[in-house]
Amino acid sequence: MDDLKYWLSSLADLALPRYCIVCGRKLETRERHLCIYCSADFPFTRFWMSGHNEMADRYNAMISRDMDSGECTLAYEEYSRATALFFYHAEAGYRKIPQALKYGGRITAGRYFARILAGTLFSSDIFADVDMVVPVPLHRRRMRERGYNQAEVIAREIAVYGGIEERADLLVRRKYTQTQTRLSPEDKRTNVRGAFEVEEKVAEKCAPSHVLVVDDVFTTGATVTACHHALRRYFGFGLRISAATLGFVNSG
Ligand SMILES: [Zn+2]
Repeated sequence: MDDLKYWLSSLADLALPRYCIVCGRKLETRERHLCIYCSADFPFTRFWMSGHNEMADRYNAMISRDMDSGECTLAYEEYSRATALFFYHAEAGYRKIPQALKYGGRITAGRYFARILAGTLFSSDIFADVDMVVPVPLHRRRMRERGYNQAEVIAREIAVYGGIEERADLLVRRKYTQTQTRLSPEDKRTNVRGAFEVEEKVAEKCAPSHVLVVDDVFTTGATVTACHHALRRYFGFGLRISAATLGFVNSG
């Protein structure tokens, strides 16, 4: 993480006039990032309240498919848990939250929503025992282009909130993949297959029991699943692996 860029962005957020990230309305002093109307309509998923949900089903279906196709040679997977803070709704303004973090350098806003996500995680029986947070890594080249990893911003906030370890260096992205936005679900899967590896020098010093893989948005689940397989191959079945993101795209 480029610390200078990180802090400059935080300062800019304080100094500039503030507008609702979703609808663009000018914010009152006590409002933060969202106006009262967009706060009232905030499309919470409430996935953290239930072990089985649409996101976890999609994640587990992707894991099973990869096992069937030989991508993962391990014979057994228990049902993995997954949660997101809000429905991304491609047509609605809430998609601007992860976009602002990813492309607009709005790190303070990203941290704000990540803290809300963290609150949901640690109030939930399903995720309360997570003991390590691992962001989906960017390729080194992408990291240089963007200056920071949006998934790491979210992961760091969750780790601080929960008082647990964040390991942004546990997974590495070996493949420089093209931006996934315009790819079909099948192409996304092919695009990230085998893209991630565990950094063994780091992993040797780690003994997590429940890892939370963190990304900004969950669409097909291909990215999180590719990280899942990399962790599973190294750590075996003693490790529980769950996933959390800010946004969940509920129409694949
Ligand atoms: Zn608004």
